Amino acid sequence: MLRNAENPRVGPKYWQMADNLWGADETHGLYGDCANPYCDYNMDEDDWRDVQMGEGRWQCPNCRWDQLVPDGDPYGMLGLKPTRSGLDTASMGSLGEEVAQAAARDGALSPLGPLRWVSPDYNDPIDMVMGNNALEVKTLHSESFPRFKIAPSSVNRPGKNRAGTIAAKVQRARELGEALGHPLVEGLLGVRLNFYTGRADFFYAPEYRDRMMTAMEHLADYDFSKQNPFRDHVPGELPQQGETPDPEEVFG
Ligand SMILES: [Zn+2]
Repeated sequence: MLRNAENPRVGPKYWQMADNLWGADETHGLYGDCANPYCDYNMDEDDWRDVQMGEGRWQCPNCRWDQLVPDGDPYGMLGLKPTRSGLDTASMGSLGEEVAQAAARDGALSPLGPLRWVSPDYNDPIDMVMGNNALEVKTLHSESFPRFKIAPSSVNRPGKNRAGTIAAKVQRARELGEALGHPLVEGLLGVRLNFYTGRADFFYAPEYRDRMMTAMEHLADYDFSKQNPFRDHVPGELPQQGETPDPEEVFG
C-alpha cells in the first residue's frame, strides 16, 4: 500500500503499526499492470483485448501468471471476484488457510494452541480449531485496505446477511466444541500476505466481527515463501524473508 494521498483512508494508526511491524519502507514489488509483484509488465491494447476475450482472465506474456484482471469481467460472466494478487477471492482465502495451517504446524501460532481440526469444506462457517479457539480465517493482500471482513454484504451476495452469517459461525463453534468435548472460544484469525517478501503476519480478535488490522492483536510473522504462488513466476531469484532487494537485484 502506497503511503501517499491515494490512500488517505487508512489513517495514522495504521501507518504507525506498519512502521513497527514492517518498517517505513516495506517493499511490495515492481510497478506494472501485472498482479505479479516480481513483474513490471505493462499491458497494451492487444492485452486488453485478450482480457475481454477471456472475460477477465488473462495470462501475462512476461511472467506467465494466470490472473483475474480487476474490472476485466464487468458482467460477471466468470462469476469470480478478483483480488489484488490476481487470484479470485476463494483461492486467496484457501491460500491464507494453508499458510495458517503451516504456521501452526511449525509452532508459529502457539499463542492460540496446537492445530486440532481443519474443515474439509471451504464453505464451512468455521475454518479450523487451534487449542480452544474456533477460528474463522480471513486473508488480505499487504497492499489492500487493512480490514478483515467476516461476513458478506447482502449487496454482493443476495440472500446472505451479516447477522445470519455470524450466527452460523457461533452455532458451528458450539457444535465443534460439543464434538471435541469442551467449549470453544470464538476467534477471527487475519492473515496478511506480502507476496514480494514472502512474509505472512497473523492477527487475532476474540469474536466474529469485521475488524481493522489496528483493532487486532498481532500474534506472529511467518515465512510463507514455500507457499508463495509467485515463486514459479520470477525471472530471477526470490528474496529471503527480511530482504528488500531493489528490483535490479531481483532481475540480475
Ligand atoms: Zn507478469
